[in-house]
Amino acid sequence: MDFSVSEEQQLIIDVAHQFVRRELLPHEDVVEAQDYVPDELFAQIRQRSIEAGLFAANISAKHGGGGLDALTFALIEREFGWVSYALHYIVHRPSNILEAGSPEQIKNYLEPTVRGERLDCIAFTEPGAGSDLSAMSTRAVRHGDDYVINGSKHFISFGMRADYVILFAVTGETDGPRGKRSEISAFLVDKGTKGFTARRGPVCTAHRGYDHAELFFDDCRVPARQMLGAPGEGFQLASKWLSPARLSIGALAVGRAQRVFEMSAEWAGTRKQFGQTIGRFQGTGFKLADMATDIAAAEMLTLKAAWKFDQGLMTDQDAAMAKVFGSEMLSRVTDSAVQIFGGMGLMNTLPIERFWRDARIERIWDGTSEIQRHIISRAILRSYEK
Ligand SMILES: Cc1cc2nc3c(=O)[nH]c(=O)nc-3n(C[C@H](O)[C@H](O)[C@H](O)COP(=O)(O)OP(=O)(O)OC[C@H]3O[C@@H](n4cnc5c(N)ncnc54)[C@H](O)[C@@H]3O)c2cc1C
Repeated sequence: MDFSVSEEQQLIIDVAHQFVRRELLPHEDVVEAQDYVPDELFAQIRQRSIEAGLFAANISAKHGGGGLDALTFALIEREFGWVSYALHYIVHRPSNILEAGSPEQIKNYLEPTVRGERLDCIAFTEPGAGSDLSAMSTRAVRHGDDYVINGSKHFISFGMRADYVILFAVTGETDGPRGKRSEISAFLVDKGTKGFTARRGPVCTAHRGYDHAELFFDDCRVPARQMLGAPGEGFQLASKWLSPARLSIGALAVGRAQRVFEMSAEWAGTRKQFGQTIGRFQGTGFKLADMATDIAAAEMLTLKAAWKFDQGLMTDQDAAMAKVFGSEMLSRVTDSAVQIFGGMGLMNTLPIERFWRDARIERIWDGTSEIQRHIISRAILRSYEK
């Protein structure tokens, strides 16, 4: 494994580094206070990130995207981790599931999304189906040349702003080793389609300003050509998206933890109690040592998984390890930061309490920590269980 950075990679990292500081950081406090990204700011960030070549960096170059390999992508996600996710997310990474579309779908959905003219959101989760997606009850039933969709989704990121949704729904049943299981397929459903409505989701304590929504489908009729991939291919498409999403979380966690760590080190090195800087007390100095070690370990795990992805060697277990360790590392680091800052760590005059709140969601979305451990433990035990 070689993680040395080429000149070209360094250039991209530098562009991302500058973009975060110039275009995103200045807006962080306002977005946090308003719990909303104003439309003009959203449009400005989107446009400037397109100009900087950072938009849709995950999508292959043949569709107009940045075409970055997984390792380079992880390195720039680490830079973006520095800043509020509500702002970072505008520098959008369209769902790579769209690359599985028909030529017509690529022309009408993927490519305009890569150009920033349209916006996607992706909807798996339902009130009754979170970790267990096979329990989803949104159904799409074939009627002639159309499918008629009924059901609802919640917690859908960008659900209010998106122009269309990549929707996962049950289209039938198949026989599996443990009996009948739902056949799940994906659809592209445009906003404005009759029977499809969206409502802003409840206030979330993490990542203020980040939009998530509830989606409702009431006899929503879409042409059969709006199916993405083949009937029953939903889970395959979902897993194509989930592993890179988990690597992203590992990389973002490293960037965010590094910012928290640097603030904590400065505070510990300058704040005095009992006539000396608090970093000189072993209870504080050792916390800094553990934070730095934790961050370095998470970084290695994520870069290793990304490197394996580029070699075609990454397993679900690798992505799960990067996600669970990175997200839990971020919780440990932000918790230590609150402790090092003392009472000031809980005041909203500093961003420490925000980092601590924001860290919490990383252990839940894109597969909870328990689900990641389930993936890892199944991979370990599989070869022993005959
Ligand atoms: C702000 C936000 C944005 C989101 N964006 C999207 C989005 O864009 N699209 C989308 O589809 N989803 C999205 N999600 C949903 C997210 O992926 C789910 O919240 C997550 O998968 C967990 O599902 P759940 O919340 O229903 O929890 P549950 O599945 O109900 O889990 C509750 C608890 O039970 C545990 N548990 C469940 N099953 C097991 C098991 N087999 N073994 C051990 N423990 C288990 C879990 O680990 C957890 O601790 C978003 C969520 C949030 C909060």
